[in-house]
Amino acid sequence: MHEYSLACEIFENVISIAHTNKALAVNSITLEIGRLTHVNPDQLLFCFDVLSQDSIAEGAKINVNFISPCGECECGYRGDAEISDNARCKDYPPLYEYTRLACPVCGKLLQLVGGNDLIIHTIDIEI
Ligand SMILES: [Zn+2]
Repeated sequence: MHEYSLACEIFENVISIAHTNKALAVNSITLEIGRLTHVNPDQLLFCFDVLSQDSIAEGAKINVNFISPCGECECGYRGDAEISDNARCKDYPPLYEYTRLACPVCGKLLQLVGGNDLIIHTIDIEI
């Protein structure tokens, strides 16, 4: 399962940062999830809960911020890529299906930049 390996990666990162900072506990973690990542946060959080049992990250609150994709065009346009409702994932509407988008200025295809990443934005620890 995709979410499980991601949760493992996040967990290892969180624990290593917590150890480096001599943390007693991890209070909360803020993740930035690109809307094009196809990562279901519910599944991700569930996997993280299981992984973090009996660790200093057990019970940490996980906040999720969704990052909208941004589009770039050869005409110089750069901005949020507006996605129509039918491009939303059926099983999880905050996520988007990959879709081709036209530049609102010149009509050419936008290059999507961003919105594909999963980033650990902040970790709040107890020292
Ligand atoms: Zn353009």
